[in-house]
Amino acid sequence: MSELPRDLPRLWTLKRYLLLLLTDVDRAIEQAENGPPRDKPGPPRYVVMWRYTPVGTPRLGVLHTADCWMAKGQRLTIREVQQLRRSDARNIEACDVCTPDTQQRPAQ
Ligand SMILES: [Zn+2]
Repeated sequence: MSELPRDLPRLWTLKRYLLLLLTDVDRAIEQAENGPPRDKPGPPRYVVMWRYTPVGTPRLGVLHTADCWMAKGQRLTIREVQQLRRSDARNIEACDVCTPDTQQRPAQ
C-alpha cells in the first residue's frame, strides 16, 4: 500500500478526490460501452385516461396530449405509452379532440 497521510483532514481530502476520480472513471467506462450520452428525453407529454370495461375484457384507454383540456391524470413519456400499447390486455385509442396520433405518435 502506498504511503498515506496520518491526519484526518488530508485522509478525507484524499478520499473525496478518489471518489470524484472513481465517478469520472465510471462515466468514461459507461461512455466507452454505450457511446456518447444521448439527449435527455423530453418531458412527459401524454396522458392515458382509462375507461371502465367489463371484467375479463381488455382495458380501454384514451390517449391525450398532456395539454388537452380533457386530459386528467398522470403524465407519461412517449416510452411509457409505447410500453402500455404493447400489452394485449389494453386497447388505447387516440382522443378526437387533441388528436395525438397526428402529432408525434407513440409507435405500437
Ligand atoms: Zn385529448
